[in-house]
Amino acid sequence: MSKQRAKWVVGNWKMHGRLAENEVLLRALVDGAGTAATGTVRVGVCVPAPYLAQAEALLREAPLVWGVQDVSAYAEGAYTGEVAAGMAADFGATLAIVGHSERRAYHGERSEVVALKAQRALDAGLTPIVCVGETLEQRESGATQAVVGAQIDAVLAALPVAGLARIVVAYEPVWAIGTGKSATAEQAQEMHAFLRARLASKDAALADVPLLYGGSVKPDNAQTLFGQKDIDGGLIGGASLKSQDFLAICAAAR
Ligand code: PEP
Repeated sequence: MSKQRAKWVVGNWKMHGRLAENEVLLRALVDGAGTAATGTVRVGVCVPAPYLAQAEALLREAPLVWGVQDVSAYAEGAYTGEVAAGMAADFGATLAIVGHSERRAYHGERSEVVALKAQRALDAGLTPIVCVGETLEQRESGATQAVVGAQIDAVLAALPVAGLARIVVAYEPVWAIGTGKSATAEQAQEMHAFLRARLASKDAALADVPLLYGGSVKPDNAQTLFGQKDIDGGLIGGASLKSQDFLAICAAAR
C-alpha cells in the first residue's frame, strides 16, 4: 500500500517576464501562498535564469520554492551560454526542469542528455523535474507508451536508485502543451499509472516518485486531473503567468 503522497504545483514561466511584471506576479503569489501552499501542497515557480535573484529576494520568506527551466549537462567549463545547476543553487533554487519538450524539439536534446542534466541537478542539491511526453503523431500511431517508456528508461538506466528517489517526473503530452487542449483525466491517469509501474519495476523505492501532469492545466480542469489516483499535481505553463489562475490551480491541489 502506497503512502499518502504530497501534491506539487510548479509554474513554468518559459521565456516570459520582465522585472516589473515579475514583481507584481511574485508579490501576488506571496500574498496568496498562505492559503495555496499548505502542508500537503508544495508550490514552486521555475523562472528564466536571469530572474533567479529576484525570485530569491521576493520568495525567501514565503512558503514557495523556485527553480530554473533547464540546466547544463556539465558542472562547469567552457560551455558558453549554459547555466550550471550549481549556479542556480547559489540563488536558492531547489527545482530544475529538465527535458521539457520545447528543449527536446528546438534544441535537439536526447533522453541521454536529459539524464545527464538530471544528474547534474541532483549533484547540486536541486530536485530535477524530468519531463516526458509524446507528440500527437506518436499518440495517433499507437506509440505513446513506447515513446514515453524509452524517455523514462534512459533516466532510469543512467541514475542510481538513491538519486532517482529524489526526482519528480512530469508527464506532458506535447499536443497538450500551450494548445488549450488538455489530456482527459483518463488519458493522463493511464500514462501516470504506466510511469509509476515503470519506476516501481526499477526499484520498489521509486513507487512514490511524484508524478505531475502538464499540458493546458487551468483552474477549471485542475481538480479533476489532480483527483486521479496517480497524478500528484501539475506543471503549469501559461496559467502560471496569471496569479489568480495559478493560485486557483494550487487551491485545486488541496
Ligand atoms: C509547460 O510548458 O510545461 C506547460 C505545461 O504549458 P501549458 O500549461 O501552457 O500547456
